[in-house]
Amino acid sequence: MESHKTIHNTYKYLVCNICQEEEIFSTNKSGVCTMCKENRVQDKIWYEMIAYNENLRTDENGCPLLELYKYEETDDDVIFFITDLKEFLEDHNECMETNYQSIKEFNKGEPHRILTQINLN
Ligand SMILES: [Zn+2]
Repeated sequence: MESHKTIHNTYKYLVCNICQEEEIFSTNKSGVCTMCKENRVQDKIWYEMIAYNENLRTDENGCPLLELYKYEETDDDVIFFITDLKEFLEDHNECMETNYQSIKEFNKGEPHRILTQINLN
């Protein structure tokens, strides 16, 4: 997956998908500048783990193209976030000898664990 590319009207270089002003260099795959990331986090629009995730890509409106899931254990104080659901389920299946292929199956089979997809936009 690639970030959408916004080109500056006058200078023709790649600019940030959010502010459409700051130049984005090829090493920055997220398509948004550091300032905009910081603002999003400060405004509590993005979790830090989205803003600084190396897999973050954004569309032309600066909306994250990234899957994010929350993992919770109801009988314990455990919460963390997952960006790769497939990998998470594979690891879980391997450890626990289960065979979940989806969030639905996981939640059904694990009464004390909840997976929720987080809507980022
Ligand atoms: Zn920006």
